[in-house]
Amino acid sequence: MKAVVFHEFGNAGVLRVEEHPDPSPGPGEVTVDVTASALNHLDVDVREGVSRFPIELPHTPGVEPVGRIATLGEGVEGWSVGDRVAVYLIATCGRCVYCRTGRESLCTAPDWFVGMGSPGAYAERVICKAAQLIRIPDGVTDVEAAASNIAFGTAWHMLITRARLRAGETVLVSSVGSGIGSAAVQVAKHAGAFVIGTSSRADKLEKATDLGLDVGIDYTTQDVVEEVLRHTDGEGVDVVYEHCGGELFQHGLDSLKKDGRLVVCGAHSGEVVDFDIIPFFRRQLSVIGSFVFDRNELATVFELIARGALKPQVAATFPLEEAAKAMELMESREFFGKIVLTAGGGA
Ligand SMILES: [Zn+2]
Repeated sequence: MKAVVFHEFGNAGVLRVEEHPDPSPGPGEVTVDVTASALNHLDVDVREGVSRFPIELPHTPGVEPVGRIATLGEGVEGWSVGDRVAVYLIATCGRCVYCRTGRESLCTAPDWFVGMGSPGAYAERVICKAAQLIRIPDGVTDVEAAASNIAFGTAWHMLITRARLRAGETVLVSSVGSGIGSAAVQVAKHAGAFVIGTSSRADKLEKATDLGLDVGIDYTTQDVVEEVLRHTDGEGVDVVYEHCGGELFQHGLDSLKKDGRLVVCGAHSGEVVDFDIIPFFRRQLSVIGSFVFDRNELATVFELIARGALKPQVAATFPLEEAAKAMELMESREFFGKIVLTAGGGA
């Protein structure tokens, strides 16, 4: 099989397309012929060696494989060769207190993360546990499923599960042009919220408006906090959806109304921030951490996409062989939604 591999950490130039032996499934495992896999900013951190996950070299990145089951290991039941599936990114233990209580993203003893502890999705075939498989409903294409997996899974987990967003509330979404930003606009709208969003570009705000954004703020020319207050009668928003870090984290806190909650899942613009504690406790704010999502949340999201209630945003597709070019586009941030690699006739 073909696989995109790097032997040293660095920029997109370290990626090589190589021929590797097909993986063979052990007990409880399957292999999947990958037809589509989406790019994530996490892949850049993994490639650069700054992900804070242990990565052994050489390595194949990619955390969102979609395709068809190719081979079944011993003892796998309920699945057949050819089934169309997405792979949940964590091989959870199924036994710890978090797995048993519907919080499997917190599993204390995962076997691996796809694309981190095991070879990733930038390849023609991946191996995973049968327990990681999620069936893709009719009405969702392979490319759409790949583009939705982490974007909508994360947005759902952050807004619905962690921040407990309710109809009638107001939300501020950072960077609406990103994969998880464009997904959050749709999930928030679907939940009945009034949605305010930021971007550095007018065309991205316009596209997000088509997805349900009520108010767009260009953070390169407008003051985010001032604009949020202007559109909320000076009160601020109930929920801030934050995935950038850096100064946007403080802007998010300053945009909250009293008793508001900021939910955060990323920090690419700055991992360590100053934090003003006084207004935080006097205004009874909450900061809520959020880490990926659970399989049942992803199944919900797939159903909503199949029904047309949520719309995956595919910015571009590239053949697997052009993974370096695809990563360069992602790092340029000159796109809206998700970038997807295709292989084996996937489209
Ligand atoms: Zn577990």
